[in-house]
Amino acid sequence: MENPSKTFLFVLSAPSGAGKTTLCKRLLNDFPSMRLSISSTTRKPRGAEKEGVDYFFLSQEDFKKKIEANRFAEWAHVHGNYYGTSKEVIERAFASGFSVLLDIDVQGAEQFRLAYPRECYRIFISPPSLAELEARLRKRGTDSEEVIQKRLKNAEAEILEGQKFDVMIINDSLERAYSELKTVVEKRLGLSSLGRQSG
Ligand code: 5GP
Repeated sequence: MENPSKTFLFVLSAPSGAGKTTLCKRLLNDFPSMRLSISSTTRKPRGAEKEGVDYFFLSQEDFKKKIEANRFAEWAHVHGNYYGTSKEVIERAFASGFSVLLDIDVQGAEQFRLAYPRECYRIFISPPSLAELEARLRKRGTDSEEVIQKRLKNAEAEILEGQKFDVMIINDSLERAYSELKTVVEKRLGLSSLGRQSG
């Protein structure tokens, strides 16, 4: 896929419950040249989630058809469900000069690193500890005990993988983590007040 303008793929990965969704919302608010990639998933909608806003909710059959038709830029099996980014989302953003924010897991991040080495910038959001992550997942109150256990088990491996990312940000306080995140994005986009950066 051609990317003639200076647009980036900001890949944010984190164990679920690490505060990534809130951080993504704030980034989108502060960077109008950035668009959120809406993923497809076979997971059922949670709480007030809406079709086409939070995810495109697909059946297993439809998801597999899209894999076979080579319509995903990346896809992965996460916590027992399929998740994937449509090529179309990336193509459209590049064509219109937008950078893309991707809230995807570490497997998807690795696929983007390989497919888009120049554009891809991987940011890992880590909870301060596994105990804190467990507390946050319980407080959210949207997942069953079985799901919580599965997510905690995956979190350890994800944090290990996150150490290979371009940046790791510890979300110990939302304000502090966001300020760090904003700074790294500004630098990457060449908007840093400390001077223009390249690449
Ligand atoms: P949740 O079910 O909590 O919305 O998401 C579970 C995990 O799937 C999160 O780590 C999220 O970042 C990841 N995820 C969401 N969309 C995608 C996607 O398109 N591709 C990949 N690889 N992971 C995704």
